[in-house]
Amino acid sequence: MTAGQMAERQAPKEVAARLGVSEAAVELTRRCEVVDLHLDTFIPMRLFGYDPMRRHGQGILRGRHFGHMDLPRMQDAGLSGGMWSITTNPLRTAAGRWRAFTENVARLVEVVDASEGALALVRSHAEYRAARARGAHAIMLSVQGGNAFDGAPNGPADVPDRLLTRVTLVHLTNSRVGAASTPVSYLRRRRGLSEAGRRLVTQLNEERIFVDLAHVHPDGFWDAVEAHDKSQPLIDTHTGVSGVTPHWRNLDDRQLKAIADTGGVVGIIYSVHFLKGAHGHRDGQMILEHMQHVIDVVGEDFVAIGSDYDGAIIPPPDLRSGDSYPRMVQYMLQRGWSEARIQKVLGENFLRAFALLRP
Ligand SMILES: [Zn+2]
Repeated sequence: MTAGQMAERQAPKEVAARLGVSEAAVELTRRCEVVDLHLDTFIPMRLFGYDPMRRHGQGILRGRHFGHMDLPRMQDAGLSGGMWSITTNPLRTAAGRWRAFTENVARLVEVVDASEGALALVRSHAEYRAARARGAHAIMLSVQGGNAFDGAPNGPADVPDRLLTRVTLVHLTNSRVGAASTPVSYLRRRRGLSEAGRRLVTQLNEERIFVDLAHVHPDGFWDAVEAHDKSQPLIDTHTGVSGVTPHWRNLDDRQLKAIADTGGVVGIIYSVHFLKGAHGHRDGQMILEHMQHVIDVVGEDFVAIGSDYDGAIIPPPDLRSGDSYPRMVQYMLQRGWSEARIQKVLGENFLRAFALLRP
């Protein structure tokens, strides 16, 4: 990170005052590795020319849907790393999806190169730690929609330089891979993974790329668990849990156990639609209720943050800006969570799984 970029970062006292949290919460956040398992900031970059390097206010949408994240706010909050996702457009042809994906990767590489060391693309746990030692925000390249690879001769192995760390098998629509978890897909007779979907799981295992079970229909979830190499950690990067909020998009307790059994991790999403009903909370405490449920079911080693910032979601009103991670930490402290537990949930749980997959 250059001196200029460091100077822009606000002091803990200022951040604490602005967020209305304790300085201790800001300092603890900055002491921890904070990794967000799902950032969609690439979507507004592509659609609206959003500049992720410049500080933004909340804009006309008041922090709904987009404009949540940028580098200055990441640095204020102490966000150390994120899985940055490229979303596949299902309306393109197979060849078009693969071409668009490769163009988008090139575009992201340009943004990282232009960041003067503030951002770094990392492919392994060791590269993550090295990037952090230099003070960079570590980006782990991800894809939402495994149909991005339908047009790639060798599937995800064709992504250059082993840059890809995670693939979300399906996104919002059914694809050649399998069915998405939507209210409509429950009407289909065959809702699991296709043969192509099972083959994709095997290809991802061969490349040691995380298989992400967010968005997949429960039938496809269990097909993926069966097809998956049992020695590698499974992941669901952005979800709620149906033990708190019954919803077609959320994971039930059996699914949580299946992921924990592999040493994987579950990121809790910030979208109020999948969280609401959590003991009447209307703020970020909803997320804590979902995290607590995961902890009650499988223990504290398998839960993480997967906000889905900039992914057209509506976060709780107190978490609409990408600098609000210390507010989550404040809630954790108020619940009496130990510093060790907070550290795990903020980043170390994910980093353990990442080290298992790609040391
Ligand atoms: Zn998603």
